[in-house]
Amino acid sequence: MSVHVIGAGLAGLAAACQLTELGHHVVLFEAAPQAGGRARSYFDKQLGCRIDNGNHLLLSGNISTLSYLHRIGARRSLIGPAEPIFPFRDVVSGQDWTLRLNKGAFPWWVFSRARRVPGTRLLQYRALKRLRTATRPDSVSALVGTAGQLYHRLLKPLAISALNTMPEDASAEPLRAVLAETIERGGYATLPRWARLGLSETFIDPALEWLRTRGADVRMGERVTELQPGQATVVAVPPWVAAELVPGLHVPTEFESICNLHFRAQMDPGEAGFWGLVGGMSEWVFVRKDVISVTISAANRYADMDHEAIAARVWGELARTFKLDSAVPPNRVLWEKRATIRGTPAQLALRPGTRTAIANVMLAGDWTDTGLPATIEGAIRSGNAAAMALVNPA
Ligand SMILES: Cc1cc2nc3c(=O)[nH]c(=O)nc-3n(C[C@H](O)[C@H](O)[C@H](O)COP(=O)(O)OP(=O)(O)OC[C@H]3O[C@@H](n4cnc5c(N)ncnc54)[C@H](O)[C@@H]3O)c2cc1C
Repeated sequence: MSVHVIGAGLAGLAAACQLTELGHHVVLFEAAPQAGGRARSYFDKQLGCRIDNGNHLLLSGNISTLSYLHRIGARRSLIGPAEPIFPFRDVVSGQDWTLRLNKGAFPWWVFSRARRVPGTRLLQYRALKRLRTATRPDSVSALVGTAGQLYHRLLKPLAISALNTMPEDASAEPLRAVLAETIERGGYATLPRWARLGLSETFIDPALEWLRTRGADVRMGERVTELQPGQATVVAVPPWVAAELVPGLHVPTEFESICNLHFRAQMDPGEAGFWGLVGGMSEWVFVRKDVISVTISAANRYADMDHEAIAARVWGELARTFKLDSAVPPNRVLWEKRATIRGTPAQLALRPGTRTAIANVMLAGDWTDTGLPATIEGAIRSGNAAAMALVNPA
């Protein structure tokens, strides 16, 4: 079968690879001059180096992502600590601690004061159990409660980064799915991982190479404006584009921003190579050789701030917390306005499934109804599902 895949983000690439593996001929259309969509690297002239559009953190329980990387030969390009550790610092008090999960499924770590969040008591971890019962209408905050250090130092940062939505607005349902596939399976499934060189080098370029060497027709800079009648197609574009291409399709309509800052500076990468920060604007810090990158998720709340003010404030937090020079180094602030859909109950209810009203037209994308938050794992899983739905007609 010949299949058109529209969109070369991770969902489209996963679908294209799956279909190619199954022996189908893929024509992959990408509107932009380069593939990758919301997960890409580029050379930044101002900074004089390659950077990612945003830090992307994975967990070793993201099994569809690991299988995708294995397939395209890029599994070894992920890096991260050998142990399931998450170092944190409080930017106000300066206190630092490291969450040290144990590798097995039984959570021994919560019984050890040295391994869990400082200022928390064992019984408070029942909040994690409550998340197991989450349904779509439950907001994270309502379900786990907002009092105490467990919320401020773990559950809130976890929810913001996993759901890209403030916990008082976010449905806890997709967080339940993330926890079930990671922390609940144990530390082995919760090892933090990220791309060694860059997102394109890990997720995108090897996939394009893999596809090309197997005969797929990869067309960059070709925007698709209508579907070809009768053509088997995977539509793997953002929701607002999908709604234009597929008649009668209802899609999520609200989005959250993510802000990433890249500073041309160096610091000690510490034990893990990254930190979670609480109490300030900065949320996650990743240290590469000579670039320090900071992520701020659910960033709509900062939309009124200009980039210079954000850079000054974030660098101020880093300088104070890590004892760095206070002069703001050369930097790039990248604001992804529609980084993901908002994970509210109302928006999640608008996520469509894989199949459309047209028999051989399937949907893929992190915004479709994957059960997961809008993440790399969700995008790849949706691409695989779209490919399999085409191959196995309803
Ligand atoms: C700053 C940032 C940080 C993030 N951090 C994380 C993280 O830490 N962990 C994580 O798991 N996820 C993270 N994500 C989410 C992750 O990047 C996305 O879930 C994933 O990249 C989505 O892939 P996709 O293929 O569904 O969509 P997209 O990447 O949006 O791909 C859609 C593609 O379709 C193309 N297209 C659009 N219109 C057309 C057309 N008419 N014809 C042809 N092509 C078209 C677009 O150019 C694009 O390449 C982050 C996202 C951002 C923006």
